Amino acid sequence: MHLNRRQLTASGLLAASALVLASLTGCAESSVSATAASAAARPIVVCTTTMIGDVAQEVAGDLADVHVLFGPTVDPHLFRATRDDVALLMRADLVICNGFGLEGYLEPHLKRVSETGIPLMHLAESILKNDEAMSDAGVVDPHVWMDASLWARTAPAIAKALTDALKPEAASLQTLNERAASVEQRLLELDAHSESVISSIPDHARILVTAHDAFRYFGRRYNVRVEGVQGLSTASEGGLRAIESLVDLIVESKIPAVFVESTVSSRNIKALVEGAGARGQAVSLGGTLHSDAPGDAGTYIRMVEHNVDTIAAALGGSTLREDEQPPHAESPQ
Ligand SMILES: [Zn+2]
Repeated sequence: MHLNRRQLTASGLLAASALVLASLTGCAESSVSATAASAAARPIVVCTTTMIGDVAQEVAGDLADVHVLFGPTVDPHLFRATRDDVALLMRADLVICNGFGLEGYLEPHLKRVSETGIPLMHLAESILKNDEAMSDAGVVDPHVWMDASLWARTAPAIAKALTDALKPEAASLQTLNERAASVEQRLLELDAHSESVISSIPDHARILVTAHDAFRYFGRRYNVRVEGVQGLSTASEGGLRAIESLVDLIVESKIPAVFVESTVSSRNIKALVEGAGARGQAVSLGGTLHSDAPGDAGTYIRMVEHNVDTIAAALGGSTLREDEQPPHAESPQ
């Protein structure tokens, strides 16, 4: 914003009168300036995805300003940083990325972050134990957030990274750890909810066909066979042969529905529907899943709830048991 001389004078006067007002009311002056000072001095935490940012925001509370680079509809495999994004990264006190190659085009900038001495956390890599990472043809699968029981571990992991990077005072440290424990608990409830909803799908119908291979951790955790037309990254192409063999699977297993993803082109999935239809197997579009960003679900928790409900509804399960409430629902008064 550029101000001309007249505006500068006017804003100067406004500031001066605010100071007079504040000094007249005594305590107001100190609280106004204290708020301004703490906002200005608050450390900056930059996260790549919303799935990371949601947890970091909840755990950090008012300890830091948490920024998310990838918007809710951004495909992280294809994201390219703007000059402002890079400037924000270089101002950060802590940067948290997913790792396992998810942030393909951002990696040179993350390397620079690390070389500059800014703490850089590879969150998904840091929470998995030796044999827990999934891979396909030697490429590690980065979509760890799809298993909420694994993602629950991000809360204490982020609390530790914040502690190391920001060195909060004892009182702040205690509330930080309390917040982390509560977020971890909520994510474990989300995991239990997901397991319960998916278990309502009949065994023979537990086959999830989607646009790209984002659901393998989900499939392992909740006992669903998953097939993606594209590979682990949307940067790879889904070949004609992949589509043909998936059409075979749909026809042989009488799969009732396939799914599009909000950040991925629906072209390949529509080809599956047409291919199966040509062989006499009516397969419907089961709905849009959020795989690599929460889309209109807005948050990580609502994204997972949306996915499990959509999958269960299309594959013959029930979306919500009567005795069960979703984790974010408020308890009745
Ligand atoms: Zn992906």
